[in-house]
Amino acid sequence: MKPVEIVKDIYLVADSGMTDSRDCSVYLLNLGELVLIDAGAGSSVDMIIGNIQELGFDPAGLSTIILTHCHIDHVGGAYELRKRFGSRIIMHDLDADVLERGDNIMTGADWYGISLSPLPIDVKINSQEERLQFGEQEIICLHTPGHSPGSMSIYLDRGGKRILFGQDIHGPFLAEFGANMSHWQESMEKLLALEADVLCEGHFGVYQPKERVTEYIERYLDEYGE
Ligand SMILES: [Zn+2]
Ligand SMILES: [Zn+2]
Repeated sequence: MKPVEIVKDIYLVADSGMTDSRDCSVYLLNLGELVLIDAGAGSSVDMIIGNIQELGFDPAGLSTIILTHCHIDHVGGAYELRKRFGSRIIMHDLDADVLERGDNIMTGADWYGISLSPLPIDVKINSQEERLQFGEQEIICLHTPGHSPGSMSIYLDRGGKRILFGQDIHGPFLAEFGANMSHWQESMEKLLALEADVLCEGHFGVYQPKERVTEYIERYLDEYGE
């Protein structure tokens, strides 16, 4: 399967059907510099690079990798991409330690049969909302704990649309991985309030228009909420 353009300048470059069955959905943003949202489980790094090239971009321009949370299916490729391209890694402070110490339990790496190298996190976000600037484009990182303590959701307004990256907002919710249902519920209310037009999800693909995004989040709130 080939990489897919979702809206102009935003692409799906990896997922469980396209690259490796263990990969989350990985999104590429072309903002003059290249930004990756999540990095897959690790074994598919060469395929991700190949997909970036197939879209006509030079992977050397991969300035930034934003990690939505610390689970191996989302972070495994970040170590190698950082090493090859010098990309800076951005994630929430509350999930950063797990990666910096290469914790194979809390990242789920053991469970996937993967061994994780300690990953230095270049920028740690510790606010509710952090605005990042890429040329003219602003990207907003929202702290949306629940699935893990340092889970973030990311959104941007581009081409008249609000695009939301909401990875693993559906769970699973395992106490041993630091899940917290009341935090999650508050996080989902925050995401609903964004009224996003497009939801780029972590394992189930892309949802649009706005009504489908709302429906998706509300379905899980009905299932797990109070
Ligand atoms: Zn996860
Ligand atoms: Zn996941």
